[in-house]
Amino acid sequence: MSTRLWYNVNKCIIALTSVGVDVARQVSAKEISLFRAGGVIDLIATPHTVTELVTTIELARSHHLPLFTLGGGSNLLVKDGGYHGVAISLKHFNGILLDDNHVFVGASEKLPHIAYFSAKNQLSGLEALSGIPATIGGATIKNAGCYGVEISDIIEAVTLLDLNSLTIKRISRAEIDYSYRSSGDTFKNSIVLYVRLRLSPSNGDLIKSITDYRAKRLASQPTEPSLGSVFLKTPEGVSAGYYVDKARLKGTRIGGAQISDKHANFIINTGCATATDYLKLTALMHDVVYKKYKISLQKEIDIIGEDYSD
Ligand SMILES: Cc1cc2nc3c(=O)[nH]c(=O)nc-3n(C[C@H](O)[C@H](O)[C@H](O)COP(=O)(O)OP(=O)(O)OC[C@H]3O[C@@H](n4cnc5c(N)ncnc54)[C@H](O)[C@@H]3O)c2cc1C
Repeated sequence: MSTRLWYNVNKCIIALTSVGVDVARQVSAKEISLFRAGGVIDLIATPHTVTELVTTIELARSHHLPLFTLGGGSNLLVKDGGYHGVAISLKHFNGILLDDNHVFVGASEKLPHIAYFSAKNQLSGLEALSGIPATIGGATIKNAGCYGVEISDIIEAVTLLDLNSLTIKRISRAEIDYSYRSSGDTFKNSIVLYVRLRLSPSNGDLIKSITDYRAKRLASQPTEPSLGSVFLKTPEGVSAGYYVDKARLKGTRIGGAQISDKHANFIINTGCATATDYLKLTALMHDVVYKKYKISLQKEIDIIGEDYSD
């Protein structure tokens, strides 16, 4: 870290602490990213309120530090050189409110928890998504989905902080540019704070349905640390894993990162992986598949930070 950056980070930490924002410095990505590897994040700020969140953004900007919003880290790789800026945790934007056939959910609530809560209240819609280890904030941004269901199917409205005006806005589902695993540019300059989901009343055994979906997931996906699917489906809708498997790459290992034997589109951390191992393996998967089938796979995961240099 340069002296100037070190100085700015420290000044920002002092200013944030003085206004009551929780601050953690030099946090390893092992604690944040579900790949359990990667570099160090200089500063994680955890505001309690919208006012503190706005102050956090203003202070980061006035100290010339870049900003990033953290979700559950289930799709996030932090490069080994670390992230030199302020990562915002929305841990305190939590809670689930039941409102007739709707739930109003804080950004940091996890899909499995929301699914169980809804099922216990006989509200259906989230069972298929109950095994995705995402926050509702991250799922809303990425349009998380599986087994033919996407979170956009049940989103009714999103409350966000506009990073340009630093004001709160509420947008409806119709205003969001959703497509496969994408919300387009809708949230490019915003932080998702709360999401309202529209569910359907049901007399069925929704807990059993959740259990069945989770068993199905366990049977087809590895349990070691990973970031879920590495690559998106092709524009024709073919899974990237089909091509990786066909290219006989399952089990291929670079350093501590390995293409799962169970699911060809998952890279697992065998215990000692670095983010660099992960990236080298994705490059290999991409290049081999391109060479053999002329298919250019596109990454599904998000990457932040800098390359490691001595
Ligand atoms: C074992 C495993 C299985 C998975 N299975 C699936 C699956 O079946 N289907 C699927 O779609 N995905 C799956 N994933 C991937 C992942 O769960 C999704 O991409 C998810 O949407 C990421 O959510 P997150 O909260 O973890 O976000 P993160 O990974 O922390 O962040 C992802 C992106 O969202 C942004 N972001 C997060 N929260 C906010 C917010 N509140 N406001 C603004 N931006 C925000 C971040 O800045 C980042 O750009 C899987 C991952 C794992 C590890």
